[in-house]
Formats: sequence, structure tokens, C-alpha cells
Amino acid sequence: MPEPLLTLDTLSKAFGAHQVLDGVDVTINRGEIVGLLGPNGSGKSTLLNAISGFMAPDGGTVAIAGRDITGLPAHRVTQAGLARTFQLPAMPSRMTVRDVLRAADTDAGTARRMLRTPARDSRVDRLLLTFRLSRVADLPASSLSGGQKKLLSVALAMRGAPELLCLDEPTAGVHPELRSEMVSALKAANRQGTTLLVIEHDMLFIRQLCTRCIVLDRGKLIADCAPEELEHNPAVVEAYLGKAIEKGKTAR
Ligand code: ADP
Ligand code: MG
Repeated sequence: MPEPLLTLDTLSKAFGAHQVLDGVDVTINRGEIVGLLGPNGSGKSTLLNAISGFMAPDGGTVAIAGRDITGLPAHRVTQAGLARTFQLPAMPSRMTVRDVLRAADTDAGTARRMLRTPARDSRVDRLLLTFRLSRVADLPASSLSGGQKKLLSVALAMRGAPELLCLDEPTAGVHPELRSEMVSALKAANRQGTTLLVIEHDMLFIRQLCTRCIVLDRGKLIADCAPEELEHNPAVVEAYLGKAIEKGKTAR
């Protein structure tokens, strides 16, 4: 039996006269890896903001595991088990990449956040390796390239094994070779119990990672299907104005 983890009920948000989210209803079940697609400006990032407490919706509800979290501030949503990344990650200016990961490591047995333990060091080293950040581990996080910041933000969000991980364009600016590493890392997180909601334009990445896709167009959910069905879905093709949504192509 599918077990609902995230339930959105008629979620709505307007900026002035612009209805950016228009009654979005969707349920994401525990264990799924769901791609969130849609043309630029269709409301994807706003949807993540409304789910994760960064922006209060005007109407509708958000529930995690049956608990209503609508309108809760972001830190309370995090406590409810949700982690997220941003389309443009901000990084602290002075901390090194290694220290950013170390500080985020929530080892229940360790009271002091920055205290070094062998277990913590090895977890951090593993993340550095997985996300190809070992070479820049001792540089200030703010000095990373845009793609490296993306990698670090995904590594950070995976710390603490969230129940639901929401990623906003995790591969934008990331070297194509690293994208398959990211697919592997995210699949591993999923096997360990994390449900994923991923905004992404890269169709190869979507096909490799996701089991289901939902598509937004002008704030409305227009499709909910398997990745391989997207290119045959008339509403999706129409939303992208006939642009090919094919394997290896980018949907924008
Ligand atoms: P997407 O992530 O799908 O590209 P967004 O959710 O970022 O789209 O934006 C959807 C629409 O909402 C866009 O037209 C954008 O300009 C508008 N929008 C987003 N955030 C704000 C804001 N804080 N104030 C006003 N308009 C906004
Ligand atoms: Mg966006």
C-alpha cells in the first residue's frame, strides 16, 4: 500500500494579480523519486517555497505524513523531516567546504557541532568523494564555482537523512559527467529511506533518476506520469510549445 508522505491540497499562491500556484493537488508517497517539471516561470520554485515554509501559501494545505504543516516557518518544516536546496545556493563566505559539511553533520551522540570524531570525519570524507569536492575541501565555500556550490548544497541537504528531500535544479551548471554521480548518490539516499522531489530540466537525469514526473504549467498541475510518457503527453508537449522532450534533451 502506498503511504502518503507529502500531500498538497488546492495549494495556491498569487503575487498581486499573478496567480503563480493555482490549486495544486498532489500526493507523493514514501519512497518515491518524483521529478517536478514545467517551463520557466511555471511556479516550480514557488511550489518548493510553499512546501518548505519559505513562503506562506494564500490557500490550500501542505501535510507531511498526515501532519498539517501549512504556514509553519522553515525551521519547523525542517524538524518535520524536510530538507531542500535552492536554485541559487548561498554559501558562507569564510567556512571551508569541509567545515560546512562538518557543521551540518547531525551526529546525535555529539553535543558540540564542530567537534571532530572519526565517524564524522569519515562521513564528511565520503560526501566529499561522492560529490567530487575533495580537491576543494579546504577552500572557502564561497570561492566554489556555481556547479560546485550545487554539489555542496545537495551534499549538505543529504546530511541528517531527511524523510523528504526537495532539490531545485540540482544539476544546473554541474558538469555532465558529475550528473551521473549525483544520480547514484541520490538513489543511494532513496534506498536509505529518503523520498525525493526534484526540479530538473535535464531529461536524461530525470529518466535515470525518477520513477514519476509531475508537470506544472502556469501554476496548474497538467501531468502526472512516468518519465517515458512525458513526450507522448499532449498537455506537456503543448506546455513546452512543441519543443522536443526527448532523451538527452533539456526541457525548458
Ligand atoms: P519556476 O521555478 O517554475 O521557473 P517560479 O516559481 O520561480 O518559476 O516563478 C513563477 C512566477 O512567479 C514567475 O513569473 C515569477 O516571476 C513569479 N515570482 C516568483 N517569486 C516571486 C516574488 N517573490 N514576487 C513576485 N513574483 C514572483
Ligand atoms: Mg525555479
